[in-house]
Amino acid sequence: MALDRFGRRIHYLRISLTDHCNLRCVYCMPEDMTFRPPAEMLQDDEILFLVRLFASLGFDKIRLTGGEPTVRAHVVDLVREIAATPGVKSLSMTTNGVLLHKLARPLKAAGLQRVNVSLDTLDPVRYHKLTRWGNLQQVWEGILAAEEAGLTPIKINAVVVRGYNEVDIVDLARLTYEHDWQVRFIEMMPLGGITDFQRSQVVSTAEMLARLEAVYGAVEPLNGGELDGEARLYRLPGARGTLGFIASVTLPFCASCTRARLTADGRLRLCLLREKEVDLLTPLRNGATWEEMRQLIVTSIWEKPWGHGLAEGEVATNRVMSEIGG
Ligand code: SAM
Ligand code: SF4
Repeated sequence: MALDRFGRRIHYLRISLTDHCNLRCVYCMPEDMTFRPPAEMLQDDEILFLVRLFASLGFDKIRLTGGEPTVRAHVVDLVREIAATPGVKSLSMTTNGVLLHKLARPLKAAGLQRVNVSLDTLDPVRYHKLTRWGNLQQVWEGILAAEEAGLTPIKINAVVVRGYNEVDIVDLARLTYEHDWQVRFIEMMPLGGITDFQRSQVVSTAEMLARLEAVYGAVEPLNGGELDGEARLYRLPGARGTLGFIASVTLPFCASCTRARLTADGRLRLCLLREKEVDLLTPLRNGATWEEMRQLIVTSIWEKPWGHGLAEGEVATNRVMSEIGG
C-alpha cells in the first residue's frame, strides 16, 4: 500500500500515454507546440512494467490520458494488457473524443470500462475556436459511439473560460435532461507563461452554479454535498443525468487526493499543480531492479505535496497540461 506522510492512501494512477494531440485547445497548449521525440517517451513494455509495479503497491484505479491517448500507436493493445494486470480494478480514459467513432468498440472489447470526453460547448463555431482544430459533429458522433459501445457512465468534461464559453454551460447542463450522463464543469487552471490565460478568466464554481440556477431553478446537491472523487455533484430538477463541478482553483480538494501521475516521458508527478517530479524512466533504462523501482516509488509517494497556491496566482510552469494529463 502506498501512503503519503499526511496519511493519504494513494491508489489512483493517471498515465499520460503521449504528449501529442490532434487538437490544440487554447487553455492547454500553444498552437505551435513542440513535442518530445519518441525515444524520450515511455515505450509499451516500460508502461506495462510500471503498471504491474504500481498495481503491486495497491494502485487499483488507472486512467489513461495525454495529450490525446487515442493517438498513441497500439492503444488498444496497451488497454488490453493493462486491463488484464492483476490488481487493476478500474480502467478509464479521458479523451477529446475525436477518434472515438472508430475506437470506442475496440477499446471496450479490450477492457476499457469508461470514458470522460472533453466538450466545452455545443456551439460548432465556439468549439472550433476553443480547440483551434476541432469539429464538433465528429466528437458528438464519438460520444454516441462510446455510449453504444457501453463505455458508460459517460462523463463530459467542460473547462469553463471567461470570454469563451461561460454562457455555454446552460446548454451543456441541459444534456442531463436527455441523457443519463454526468456533465462536469472544470474551473480553468491558468498555467502562467504557457497559455495566455489569467486568473481573471477563471469562472468559479459558485458563479457557474448561480448562472445555472438563474435558468433552471435550485439545483439539488447529491452525495450529501460531499465530494465524489474530485467533483461536487448536483442534479437539475427532474434531470436523468447529473452535474459535477471541479473547483480546483477556488476549493482545492487536496485532503481527499488519492492520485499520482505518470507523464509520457516517465516522470512521477506527485501533484498536478506542483513542479516536483521523480524520474522513473532513467533508472528503469539503467537496469534498476523491480525492488529498487518499488522503493523509489514508495519513497516518492511518501513526499507527495499538499496544497497549491493557484488562487493566489502561484503556478507551476515547467509543463503544459497536455504533458501531465490533466
Ligand atoms: N486530450 C484529452 C482530453 O482533452 O480530454 C486528455 C488530456 S487533457 C490534458 C485532460 C483534461 O484536462 C481535459 O478534460 C481538459 O479539458 C483538461 N484541461 C486541459 N487544460 C486545462 C486547464 N488549463 N485547466 C483545467 N483543465 C484543463
Ligand atoms: Fe489536446 Fe486534450 Fe489538451 Fe485539448 S485538452 S489540446 S484535446 S490534450
